[in-house]
Amino acid sequence: MALSGLEIFKLLPKTNCGECGVPTCMAFAMKLAQKKAELAECPHVSDEAQEVLGAASEPPIKLVKIGGKEPLEIGAETVMFRHEKTFYHQPGIAIELRTSEDEASFTAKIEEIEAYSVERVGEVLTPDLFLLSHDSDDPAGFTRAIELVKAKSGKHLILDCGDRSVLVKGLELLQGDHPAVLLGSPLSDGDLELAKANGASLILTGKTLEDLSAQAGKARDAGFNDIILNYDSANMAETLQANTIMRRSALKKDYKPFGYPMFTRINAGSGVGALARAGVSLCKYASVIALPVYDKALLYTLFTLRQNIYTDPQKPIQVDPKIYAIGEPTPESPVFITTNFSLTYFIVSGEIENSGISAHLVVCDCEGQSVLTAWAAGKFVGETVAKFFKSIDVECQIKTRKVIIPGYASQIQGDLEEKMPGWEAVVGPQEASDIPTFIKNVDLS
Ligand code: SF4
Repeated sequence: MALSGLEIFKLLPKTNCGECGVPTCMAFAMKLAQKKAELAECPHVSDEAQEVLGAASEPPIKLVKIGGKEPLEIGAETVMFRHEKTFYHQPGIAIELRTSEDEASFTAKIEEIEAYSVERVGEVLTPDLFLLSHDSDDPAGFTRAIELVKAKSGKHLILDCGDRSVLVKGLELLQGDHPAVLLGSPLSDGDLELAKANGASLILTGKTLEDLSAQAGKARDAGFNDIILNYDSANMAETLQANTIMRRSALKKDYKPFGYPMFTRINAGSGVGALARAGVSLCKYASVIALPVYDKALLYTLFTLRQNIYTDPQKPIQVDPKIYAIGEPTPESPVFITTNFSLTYFIVSGEIENSGISAHLVVCDCEGQSVLTAWAAGKFVGETVAKFFKSIDVECQIKTRKVIIPGYASQIQGDLEEKMPGWEAVVGPQEASDIPTFIKNVDLS
Protein backbone atom coordinates (compact mmCIF):
# COMPACT_ATOMS: atom_id res chain seq x y z
CA MET A 1 0.00 0.00 0.00
CA ALA A 2 1.26 3.48 -0.84
CA LEU A 3 2.67 5.48 2.07
CA SER A 4 1.97 9.15 2.61
CA GLY A 5 4.76 11.73 2.50
CA LEU A 6 4.67 12.04 6.30
CA GLU A 7 4.89 8.27 6.82
CA ILE A 8 7.87 8.12 4.48
CA PHE A 9 9.50 11.11 6.20
CA LYS A 10 9.42 9.30 9.56
CA LEU A 11 11.64 6.59 8.09
CA LEU A 12 14.22 8.90 6.49
CA PRO A 13 17.44 9.99 8.32
CA LYS A 14 16.13 13.58 8.83
CA THR A 15 19.59 15.12 8.45
CA ASN A 16 18.59 17.37 5.56
CA CYS A 17 21.99 16.84 3.95
CA GLY A 18 20.63 17.55 0.46
CA GLU A 19 22.55 14.77 -1.26
CA CYS A 20 19.34 13.50 -2.86
CA GLY A 21 19.06 16.71 -4.87
CA VAL A 22 16.39 18.38 -2.71
CA PRO A 23 17.20 20.47 0.35
CA THR A 24 15.28 18.53 3.02
CA CYS A 25 14.25 15.00 3.91
CA MET A 26 10.64 16.20 3.98
CA ALA A 27 10.87 17.43 0.39
CA PHE A 28 12.40 14.12 -0.64
CA ALA A 29 9.65 12.23 1.18
CA MET A 30 7.02 14.18 -0.73
CA LYS A 31 8.75 13.37 -4.02
CA LEU A 32 8.92 9.69 -3.10
CA ALA A 33 5.23 9.66 -2.21
CA GLN A 34 4.43 11.14 -5.61
CA LYS A 35 6.73 8.54 -7.27
CA LYS A 36 8.81 11.40 -8.63
CA ALA A 37 12.02 10.18 -6.98
CA GLU A 38 13.65 6.86 -6.28
CA LEU A 39 14.77 5.69 -2.87
CA ALA A 40 18.26 4.99 -4.22
CA GLU A 41 18.76 8.76 -4.56
CA CYS A 42 19.21 8.96 -0.76
CA PRO A 43 22.48 7.23 0.12
CA HIS A 44 21.78 7.27 3.88
CA VAL A 45 18.61 5.19 4.25
CA SER A 46 18.90 2.46 6.91
CA ASP A 47 18.40 -1.20 5.99
CA GLU A 48 15.25 -1.27 8.07
CA ALA A 49 13.78 1.76 6.30
CA GLN A 50 14.93 0.36 2.99
CA GLU A 51 12.82 -2.73 3.51
CA VAL A 52 9.68 -0.76 4.25
CA LEU A 53 10.23 2.03 1.78
CA GLY A 54 11.61 -0.20 -0.95
CA ALA A 55 8.21 -1.77 -1.49
CA ALA A 56 6.35 1.52 -1.05
CA SER A 57 8.55 3.37 -3.53
CA GLU A 58 8.54 0.48 -6.00
CA PRO A 59 7.66 1.80 -9.46
CA PRO A 60 3.97 1.29 -10.23
CA ILE A 61 4.93 -0.38 -13.50
CA LYS A 62 7.58 -3.09 -13.37
CA LEU A 63 10.77 -2.97 -15.35
CA VAL A 64 11.00 -6.01 -17.62
CA LYS A 65 14.06 -6.98 -19.65
CA ILE A 66 14.12 -8.94 -22.89
CA GLY A 67 17.43 -10.28 -24.11
CA GLY A 68 20.66 -11.42 -22.53
CA LYS A 69 23.39 -9.03 -23.66
CA GLU A 70 22.34 -5.37 -23.61
CA PRO A 71 18.72 -6.28 -22.97
CA LEU A 72 15.79 -4.19 -24.07
CA GLU A 73 14.42 -2.58 -20.90
CA ILE A 74 10.73 -1.77 -20.93
CA GLY A 75 8.17 -0.52 -18.42
CA ALA A 76 8.98 1.36 -15.18
CA GLU A 77 7.00 4.35 -16.42
CA THR A 78 5.60 6.74 -13.85
CA VAL A 79 3.33 9.13 -15.71
CA MET A 80 0.35 9.05 -18.05
CA PHE A 81 1.56 11.94 -20.16
CA ARG A 82 5.06 12.75 -21.26
CA HIS A 83 4.82 16.42 -20.25
CA GLU A 84 4.13 15.44 -16.61
CA LYS A 85 7.74 14.29 -16.27
CA THR A 86 9.12 12.06 -18.98
CA PHE A 87 8.74 8.56 -20.41
CA TYR A 88 11.79 6.50 -19.56
CA HIS A 89 11.95 3.33 -21.63
CA GLN A 90 11.22 3.59 -25.28
CA PRO A 91 9.21 0.80 -26.90
CA GLY A 92 11.05 -1.97 -28.66
CA ILE A 93 10.13 -2.42 -32.31
CA ALA A 94 9.94 -6.03 -33.47
CA ILE A 95 9.70 -7.41 -37.00
CA GLU A 96 7.81 -10.65 -37.49
CA LEU A 97 9.53 -13.61 -39.12
CA ARG A 98 7.59 -16.74 -40.05
CA THR A 99 8.85 -20.30 -40.16
CA SER A 100 6.60 -21.00 -43.18
CA GLU A 101 8.95 -18.88 -45.27
CA ASP A 102 11.51 -20.87 -47.27
CA GLU A 103 14.97 -20.87 -45.77
CA ALA A 104 16.64 -18.80 -48.47
CA SER A 105 14.20 -15.89 -48.22
CA PHE A 106 14.03 -16.24 -44.40
CA THR A 107 17.82 -15.88 -44.23
CA ALA A 108 17.87 -13.04 -46.75
CA LYS A 109 15.25 -11.18 -44.73
CA ILE A 110 17.26 -11.48 -41.50
CA GLU A 111 20.37 -10.27 -43.28
CA GLU A 112 18.53 -7.33 -44.82
CA ILE A 113 16.97 -6.27 -41.51
CA GLU A 114 20.26 -6.76 -39.70
CA ALA A 115 21.98 -4.45 -42.18
CA TYR A 116 19.34 -1.75 -41.84
CA SER A 117 20.03 1.17 -39.55
CA VAL A 118 19.55 4.90 -39.89
CA GLU A 119 21.16 7.75 -38.04
CA ARG A 120 18.91 10.53 -36.86
CA VAL A 121 19.86 13.37 -34.52
CA GLY A 122 23.05 11.54 -33.65
CA GLU A 123 21.30 8.31 -32.68
CA VAL A 124 21.65 5.06 -34.60
CA LEU A 125 18.20 3.53 -35.04
CA THR A 126 17.44 -0.06 -35.93
CA PRO A 127 14.69 -2.60 -35.13
CA ASP A 128 15.20 -4.07 -31.65
CA LEU A 129 13.70 -7.54 -31.86
CA PHE A 130 12.35 -10.32 -34.03
CA LEU A 131 9.01 -11.92 -33.35
CA LEU A 132 9.42 -15.49 -34.55
CA SER A 133 6.05 -17.05 -35.42
CA HIS A 134 5.94 -20.80 -35.89
CA ASP A 135 3.29 -21.17 -38.59
CA SER A 136 4.62 -24.20 -40.46
CA ASP A 137 3.90 -27.91 -39.91
CA ASP A 138 7.57 -28.77 -39.64
CA PRO A 139 8.62 -28.95 -35.95
CA ALA A 140 12.29 -28.78 -36.88
CA GLY A 141 11.64 -25.54 -38.77
CA PHE A 142 11.28 -23.64 -35.50
CA THR A 143 14.63 -24.63 -34.03
CA ARG A 144 16.28 -24.18 -37.42
CA ALA A 145 14.85 -20.65 -37.61
CA ILE A 146 16.17 -19.85 -34.12
CA GLU A 147 19.60 -21.11 -35.09
CA LEU A 148 19.54 -18.92 -38.19
CA VAL A 149 18.48 -15.83 -36.25
CA LYS A 150 21.21 -16.45 -33.68
CA ALA A 151 23.83 -16.99 -36.34
CA LYS A 152 22.91 -13.89 -38.33
CA SER A 153 21.73 -11.38 -35.75
CA GLY A 154 22.16 -10.10 -32.21
CA LYS A 155 18.57 -8.89 -31.95
CA HIS A 156 16.41 -10.10 -29.09
CA LEU A 157 13.68 -12.68 -29.70
CA ILE A 158 10.00 -13.08 -28.99
CA LEU A 159 8.75 -16.62 -29.63
CA ASP A 160 5.24 -17.34 -30.80
CA CYS A 161 4.79 -21.09 -30.90
CA GLY A 162 1.60 -22.94 -30.00
CA ASP A 163 3.26 -26.36 -29.79
CA ARG A 164 4.70 -26.85 -26.29
CA SER A 165 7.23 -29.54 -27.21
CA VAL A 166 8.56 -27.45 -30.11
CA LEU A 167 8.72 -24.36 -27.90
CA VAL A 168 10.72 -26.27 -25.26
CA LYS A 169 13.29 -27.23 -27.88
CA GLY A 170 13.48 -23.64 -29.05
CA LEU A 171 14.01 -22.32 -25.54
CA GLU A 172 16.81 -24.81 -24.99
CA LEU A 173 18.70 -23.04 -27.77
CA LEU A 174 18.24 -19.69 -26.10
CA GLN A 175 19.71 -20.33 -22.66
CA GLY A 176 21.02 -17.04 -21.30
CA ASP A 177 19.29 -15.03 -24.04
CA HIS A 178 16.17 -14.18 -21.98
CA PRO A 179 13.66 -14.29 -24.83
CA ALA A 180 9.99 -13.42 -24.40
CA VAL A 181 7.32 -16.03 -25.09
CA LEU A 182 4.06 -14.81 -26.59
CA LEU A 183 1.24 -16.92 -25.18
CA GLY A 184 -1.76 -17.50 -27.40
CA SER A 185 -3.85 -19.18 -24.70
CA PRO A 186 -4.49 -18.38 -21.03
CA LEU A 187 -1.51 -18.70 -18.70
CA SER A 188 -1.02 -22.19 -17.28
CA ASP A 189 1.20 -23.58 -14.52
CA GLY A 190 3.24 -25.25 -17.26
CA ASP A 191 3.89 -21.86 -18.90
CA LEU A 192 5.15 -20.45 -15.62
CA GLU A 193 7.43 -23.43 -15.02
CA LEU A 194 8.79 -23.23 -18.55
CA ALA A 195 9.48 -19.49 -18.29
CA LYS A 196 11.16 -19.83 -14.89
CA ALA A 197 13.30 -22.74 -16.04
CA ASN A 198 14.46 -20.91 -19.16
CA GLY A 199 14.76 -17.33 -17.93
CA ALA A 200 12.07 -16.15 -20.35
CA SER A 201 9.51 -13.38 -19.99
CA LEU A 202 5.87 -14.17 -20.73
CA ILE A 203 3.57 -12.07 -22.87
CA LEU A 204 0.09 -12.78 -21.51
CA THR A 205 -2.71 -12.51 -24.04
CA GLY A 206 -6.29 -11.71 -23.11
CA LYS A 207 -9.36 -10.60 -25.01
CA THR A 208 -10.81 -8.78 -22.01
CA LEU A 209 -9.29 -6.74 -19.19
CA GLU A 210 -10.75 -9.17 -16.64
CA ASP A 211 -9.01 -12.05 -18.36
CA LEU A 212 -5.66 -10.22 -18.46
CA SER A 213 -6.02 -9.16 -14.84
CA ALA A 214 -6.71 -12.76 -13.76
CA GLN A 215 -3.69 -14.08 -15.68
CA ALA A 216 -1.38 -11.38 -14.32
CA GLY A 217 -2.69 -12.10 -10.81
CA LYS A 218 -1.92 -15.79 -11.25
CA ALA A 219 1.66 -15.00 -12.34
CA ARG A 220 2.13 -12.60 -9.41
CA ASP A 221 0.82 -15.19 -6.94
CA ALA A 222 3.41 -17.60 -8.31
CA GLY A 223 6.09 -14.97 -7.68
CA PHE A 224 6.64 -14.44 -11.41
CA ASN A 225 6.88 -10.81 -12.48
CA ASP A 226 8.58 -11.01 -15.87
CA ILE A 227 5.30 -10.42 -17.65
CA ILE A 228 4.05 -8.21 -20.43
CA LEU A 229 0.37 -7.61 -21.13
CA ASN A 230 -1.16 -8.12 -24.57
CA TYR A 231 -4.75 -6.94 -24.98
CA ASP A 232 -5.73 -8.89 -28.07
CA SER A 233 -8.20 -7.08 -30.30
CA ALA A 234 -8.41 -6.45 -34.01
CA ASN A 235 -10.07 -3.14 -33.19
CA MET A 236 -7.45 -0.45 -32.60
CA ALA A 237 -9.85 1.82 -30.73
CA GLU A 238 -10.53 -1.01 -28.25
CA THR A 239 -6.81 -1.66 -27.81
CA LEU A 240 -6.15 2.03 -27.23
CA GLN A 241 -8.92 2.16 -24.64
CA ALA A 242 -7.73 -1.01 -22.89
CA ASN A 243 -4.09 0.12 -22.83
CA THR A 244 -5.12 3.47 -21.38
CA ILE A 245 -7.24 1.82 -18.69
CA MET A 246 -4.38 -0.50 -17.74
CA ARG A 247 -1.85 2.32 -17.55
CA ARG A 248 -4.22 4.51 -15.56
CA SER A 249 -5.13 1.68 -13.18
CA ALA A 250 -1.44 0.95 -12.53
CA LEU A 251 -0.42 4.57 -12.00
CA LYS A 252 -3.44 6.12 -10.36
CA LYS A 253 -4.96 3.19 -8.48
CA ASP A 254 -1.77 1.22 -7.86
CA TYR A 255 -3.58 -1.78 -9.36
CA LYS A 256 -0.79 -4.35 -9.34
CA PRO A 257 -2.06 -6.82 -12.01
CA PHE A 258 -1.80 -4.03 -14.59
CA GLY A 259 1.56 -2.76 -13.34
CA TYR A 260 3.48 -4.30 -16.26
CA PRO A 261 4.60 -3.15 -19.70
CA MET A 262 2.29 -3.79 -22.65
CA PHE A 263 2.67 -5.48 -26.01
CA THR A 264 0.82 -4.75 -29.23
CA ARG A 265 0.90 -6.82 -32.37
CA ILE A 266 0.06 -4.91 -35.54
CA ASN A 267 -2.00 -7.03 -37.88
CA ALA A 268 -2.76 -4.48 -40.56
CA GLY A 269 -0.07 -5.40 -43.09
CA SER A 270 1.99 -2.49 -44.39
CA GLY A 271 1.21 1.06 -45.42
CA VAL A 272 -0.84 3.74 -43.76
CA GLY A 273 -3.06 1.31 -41.82
CA ALA A 274 -0.08 -0.32 -40.11
CA LEU A 275 1.54 3.05 -39.48
CA ALA A 276 -1.61 4.45 -37.89
CA ARG A 277 -1.95 1.44 -35.59
CA ALA A 278 1.72 1.31 -34.67
CA GLY A 279 1.84 5.08 -34.11
CA VAL A 280 -1.17 4.99 -31.78
CA SER A 281 0.34 2.03 -29.91
CA LEU A 282 3.65 3.81 -29.57
CA CYS A 283 1.98 6.85 -28.03
CA LYS A 284 -0.39 4.85 -25.80
CA TYR A 285 1.18 2.72 -24.26
CA ALA A 286 2.81 -0.27 -25.89
CA SER A 287 6.32 -1.14 -24.73
CA VAL A 288 6.83 -3.62 -27.54
CA ILE A 289 5.28 -3.19 -30.99
CA ALA A 290 5.46 -6.13 -33.37
CA LEU A 291 5.22 -5.24 -37.06
CA PRO A 292 4.01 -7.86 -39.55
CA VAL A 293 6.38 -6.75 -42.29
CA TYR A 294 9.77 -5.22 -42.82
CA ASP A 295 9.03 -1.81 -44.29
CA LYS A 296 11.71 0.88 -44.16
CA ALA A 297 9.30 3.80 -44.56
CA LEU A 298 7.16 2.49 -41.71
CA LEU A 299 10.20 1.93 -39.51
CA TYR A 300 11.71 5.34 -40.15
CA THR A 301 8.43 7.07 -39.34
CA LEU A 302 8.09 5.09 -36.11
CA PHE A 303 11.69 5.79 -35.12
CA THR A 304 11.08 9.51 -35.60
CA LEU A 305 7.88 9.41 -33.58
CA ARG A 306 9.57 7.38 -30.86
CA GLN A 307 12.44 9.83 -30.62
CA ASN A 308 9.98 12.67 -30.23
CA ILE A 309 7.87 10.97 -27.56
CA TYR A 310 10.68 9.38 -25.59
CA THR A 311 12.87 12.37 -24.89
CA ASP A 312 12.79 14.28 -21.65
CA PRO A 313 10.71 17.40 -22.35
CA GLN A 314 12.58 19.19 -19.57
CA LYS A 315 15.98 18.53 -21.13
CA PRO A 316 16.38 19.62 -24.74
CA ILE A 317 18.62 17.28 -26.69
CA GLN A 318 21.85 19.16 -27.12
CA VAL A 319 25.20 18.82 -28.78
CA ASP A 320 28.43 20.14 -27.27
CA PRO A 321 28.93 23.83 -27.92
CA LYS A 322 32.19 24.16 -29.89
CA ILE A 323 33.59 24.56 -33.41
CA TYR A 324 32.66 21.64 -35.66
CA ALA A 325 34.67 20.91 -38.78
CA ILE A 326 32.49 20.15 -41.78
CA GLY A 327 34.61 18.44 -44.42
CA GLU A 328 38.23 19.49 -44.16
CA PRO A 329 38.19 23.20 -43.42
CA THR A 330 41.28 25.39 -43.46
CA PRO A 331 41.63 28.56 -41.34
CA GLU A 332 40.31 30.46 -44.39
CA SER A 333 37.11 28.38 -44.79
CA PRO A 334 33.69 30.00 -44.22
CA VAL A 335 32.23 30.19 -40.70
CA PHE A 336 28.59 29.42 -39.95
CA ILE A 337 26.98 29.84 -36.54
CA THR A 338 23.96 28.18 -35.01
CA THR A 339 22.67 27.02 -31.61
CA ASN A 340 23.32 23.72 -29.83
CA PHE A 341 19.80 22.29 -30.17
CA SER A 342 20.63 18.86 -31.47
CA LEU A 343 18.11 18.79 -34.31
CA THR A 344 19.26 22.23 -35.51
CA TYR A 345 22.90 21.14 -35.44
CA PHE A 346 22.31 17.94 -37.41
CA ILE A 347 20.15 19.65 -40.04
CA VAL A 348 22.51 22.61 -40.54
CA SER A 349 25.68 20.50 -40.59
CA GLY A 350 24.01 18.06 -43.01
CA GLU A 351 23.06 20.84 -45.42
CA ILE A 352 26.54 22.41 -45.34
CA GLU A 353 27.95 18.96 -46.07
CA ASN A 354 25.44 18.50 -48.92
CA SER A 355 26.66 21.73 -50.51
CA GLY A 356 30.06 20.09 -51.00
CA ILE A 357 32.18 22.77 -49.30
CA SER A 358 34.31 22.57 -46.18
CA ALA A 359 33.42 24.99 -43.43
CA HIS A 360 33.57 25.71 -39.71
CA LEU A 361 30.29 25.46 -37.84
CA VAL A 362 30.40 27.33 -34.55
CA VAL A 363 27.71 25.88 -32.31
CA CYS A 364 26.94 28.35 -29.52
CA ASP A 365 25.86 27.35 -26.05
CA CYS A 366 22.13 28.21 -25.98
CA GLU A 367 21.06 25.54 -23.46
CA GLY A 368 19.83 23.31 -26.26
CA GLN A 369 17.33 25.82 -27.65
CA SER A 370 16.54 26.31 -31.32
CA VAL A 371 17.60 29.53 -33.08
CA LEU A 372 14.33 31.45 -32.74
CA THR A 373 13.70 30.35 -29.15
CA ALA A 374 17.26 31.16 -28.12
CA TRP A 375 17.09 34.55 -29.84
CA ALA A 376 13.75 35.35 -28.14
CA ALA A 377 15.24 34.33 -24.79
CA GLY A 378 18.27 36.59 -25.29
CA LYS A 379 20.63 33.61 -25.50
CA PHE A 380 21.54 34.01 -29.16
CA VAL A 381 22.26 37.73 -29.52
CA GLY A 382 25.34 39.76 -30.41
CA GLU A 383 26.69 39.88 -26.89
CA THR A 384 26.29 36.15 -26.08
CA VAL A 385 27.66 35.03 -29.45
CA ALA A 386 30.66 37.38 -29.12
CA LYS A 387 31.32 36.08 -25.59
CA PHE A 388 31.14 32.51 -26.79
CA PHE A 389 33.55 33.20 -29.68
CA LYS A 390 35.98 34.64 -27.14
CA SER A 391 35.57 31.76 -24.68
CA ILE A 392 36.54 29.15 -27.28
CA ASP A 393 39.18 31.33 -28.92
CA VAL A 394 37.68 31.31 -32.42
CA GLU A 395 39.95 34.10 -33.64
CA CYS A 396 43.10 32.09 -32.90
CA GLN A 397 41.85 29.08 -34.85
CA ILE A 398 40.17 30.73 -37.84
CA LYS A 399 41.47 33.50 -40.09
CA THR A 400 38.15 34.20 -41.80
CA ARG A 401 36.38 37.27 -40.50
CA LYS A 402 33.03 36.66 -42.13
CA VAL A 403 30.39 34.79 -40.18
CA ILE A 404 27.11 33.48 -41.63
CA ILE A 405 24.22 33.86 -39.23
CA PRO A 406 20.87 32.00 -39.49
CA GLY A 407 18.22 33.91 -41.43
CA TYR A 408 15.81 33.63 -38.50
CA ALA A 409 18.29 35.60 -36.37
CA SER A 410 18.95 38.35 -38.94
CA GLN A 411 18.13 40.90 -36.21
CA ILE A 412 21.44 40.22 -34.49
CA GLN A 413 23.51 41.23 -37.54
CA GLY A 414 24.31 44.83 -36.49
CA ASP A 415 24.64 43.96 -32.84
CA LEU A 416 27.04 41.13 -33.62
CA GLU A 417 29.28 43.29 -35.82
CA GLU A 418 29.38 45.87 -33.04
CA LYS A 419 30.31 43.29 -30.39
CA MET A 420 32.83 41.53 -32.65
CA PRO A 421 34.89 44.32 -34.25
CA GLY A 422 36.57 43.27 -37.49
CA TRP A 423 33.92 40.67 -38.31
CA GLU A 424 31.29 40.90 -41.03
CA ALA A 425 28.00 39.17 -40.29
CA VAL A 426 26.27 37.79 -43.39
CA VAL A 427 22.61 36.83 -43.10
CA GLY A 428 22.12 33.25 -44.27
CA PRO A 429 18.86 31.58 -45.32
CA GLN A 430 16.02 30.96 -42.89
CA GLU A 431 15.67 27.33 -43.85
CA ALA A 432 18.68 25.04 -43.61
CA SER A 433 17.56 23.34 -46.82
CA ASP A 434 18.41 26.58 -48.68
CA ILE A 435 22.04 26.56 -47.51
CA PRO A 436 23.43 24.83 -50.66
CA THR A 437 21.77 27.42 -52.93
CA PHE A 438 22.87 30.24 -50.65
CA ILE A 439 26.48 29.03 -50.76
CA LYS A 440 26.42 28.97 -54.57
CA ASN A 441 25.20 32.56 -54.79
CA VAL A 442 27.22 34.35 -52.10
CA ASP A 443 30.86 35.39 -52.04
CA LEU A 444 32.18 33.71 -48.89
CA SER A 445 35.82 34.64 -49.37
FE1 SF4 B 1 17.48 13.43 3.73
FE2 SF4 B 1 18.61 11.39 2.43
FE3 SF4 B 1 17.96 13.60 1.12
FE4 SF4 B 1 19.97 13.65 2.86
S1 SF4 B 1 19.89 12.46 0.96
S2 SF4 B 1 18.30 15.17 2.58
S3 SF4 B 1 19.23 12.25 4.38
S4 SF4 B 1 16.58 12.22 2.13
